[in-house]
Amino acid sequence: MERRTPDGARDRTVPEAPWFTVDRIDGDTFVLSEWRHPEETHCYLLCGRERALLIDTGLGVADLRRAVSALTDLPVLAAVTHAHWDHIGGLGSFSGAVAVHEREKDWVSGGFSLSLSAVRDALTGCACAFPPDFHPADYRLYRGGAQRLLRDGDRLELGGRSLTVIHTPGHSPGHCCFYEPERGALYTGDLIYAGQLDAFYPTTDPRQFRRSVRRVRTLAVDRLFPGHHTLDLPVSLIADVDEAFALLDRVGKLRRGSGLFDFGAFRIRL
Ligand SMILES: [Zn+2]
Ligand SMILES: [Zn+2]
Repeated sequence: MERRTPDGARDRTVPEAPWFTVDRIDGDTFVLSEWRHPEETHCYLLCGRERALLIDTGLGVADLRRAVSALTDLPVLAAVTHAHWDHIGGLGSFSGAVAVHEREKDWVSGGFSLSLSAVRDALTGCACAFPPDFHPADYRLYRGGAQRLLRDGDRLELGGRSLTVIHTPGHSPGHCCFYEPERGALYTGDLIYAGQLDAFYPTTDPRQFRRSVRRVRTLAVDRLFPGHHTLDLPVSLIADVDEAFALLDRVGKLRRGSGLFDFGAFRIRL
């Protein structure tokens, strides 16, 4: 893996590692991860008989289309759990086949409230060995719109396997989880992961977040696939996050601006 010298210059004596780490979840499901960035984002590629579904598209600093094409030649629908910058980064290379919840359709058409420079600062303001052909000045937010608008209960048919859209607002108004009941798999985006769960931005809603966690707790789930950080998650994490939100509600803290709360395996920032 590439390293940087103390003055920030790249040390080119170290061989370049691929930006995306690819792991096979099962015979026709893959996870493409960006472990080199502190966001540690994950994109999931689910291949059916007729088409493939890509869940989230990462930071947008490397060629996700090329990484996906190395895994499948099926037509790909790129669906995002929500339209935050760290999930829509690679959407541009899937234009024409983009899906987002209807409540965030404006966010993928230039209407996202965070400025380009704020996003660029969030992306690059860390010690990270970016790919050598990535130039922060060229970074742009996706604004090509969506061809498919998602609603709660929609089915995404891939041929021989099918995903259900679960609208789980709170972290963002149009946040969705994707559920594959036949495999007991829940793709949780930024609703559930081992890290800091955020419901403190102006567009978040802690009470909705809590209701969404409670809702996914009722699903029959065997495996969790989060949007960030460790992939080794016990399914019991859903119940733990649910209990944490319930506790915050009982002590009158379930509102934006009430602070950062540490529960060990995860934190909740309201
Ligand atoms: Zn997010
Ligand atoms: Zn995220």
